[in-house]
Amino acid sequence: MRTSAVRVGLVFPELLGTYGDRGNAVVLVERCRRRGIEADLIEVSAGSPIPVDLDIYLFGGGEDDAQVMAATGMRESGAAIASARSGGSVVFAVCAGFQLLGTTYEANDGEILDGLGLVDLATRAGDGRCIGECVVVPDAATGLPTLTGFENHGGRTTLGPGIAPLGRVTTGFGNGIDGCDGVLADHLLGTYLHGPVLPRNPALADHLLGWIVGPDALTPLDDHLVDALRAERLREAQLTGLAARRRDWHLNRG
Ligand code: GLN
Repeated sequence: MRTSAVRVGLVFPELLGTYGDRGNAVVLVERCRRRGIEADLIEVSAGSPIPVDLDIYLFGGGEDDAQVMAATGMRESGAAIASARSGGSVVFAVCAGFQLLGTTYEANDGEILDGLGLVDLATRAGDGRCIGECVVVPDAATGLPTLTGFENHGGRTTLGPGIAPLGRVTTGFGNGIDGCDGVLADHLLGTYLHGPVLPRNPALADHLLGWIVGPDALTPLDDHLVDALRAERLREAQLTGLAARRRDWHLNRG
């Protein structure tokens, strides 16, 4: 049993926090506390070095200008993040943060940004933006249920040989290349899903926590309200025909 508090690090929330991605940190902390596991939310402000002693590193989404600034700070602390990860810490990243886990990100204006290079993936600018509800079905071996979220990105991400995605996209775009979304490696998970994704899919939050506290510490919680939300979001995402066009028209109006 763990004796110290789980340190959940929310990295550069001023830059990487579109669509409420901060909610991912809140949910991780809250799901620990409800189980009697101590947890602290540590905010790492933009411009500050990213500490080496966090248990979970959370990188959210961001528009291109914010992403350029975030990339600089992330690279400056790249050695700390890599060393924490090799010591068992978890990295979880959404959209812009996910893109920056890889080797390169090509912004809309053609500028190429270097990422952290923690995993072999690269992102190039795509033709048009990928916007809307997204449904991702992870491989059965992960034990994860179908995931729902919202995406809005211009980048298209290619995984390197042998690198596994988070899952298969059944609605939406995800990585936008081969019908898959995100990346899933040891203690590292990336996705294009906002929502925020962990409040919408608590099983994914528990998957990350399991890497830190061990699966036995993850006693069941009452998730009936989230289950109802998940069912409603899945129904909405799976609309077809006129109903789907009406839904997308509202989303794309901004
Ligand atoms: N700027 C990135 C893109 O458009 C990421 C956007 C986001 O994080 N929502 O691809």
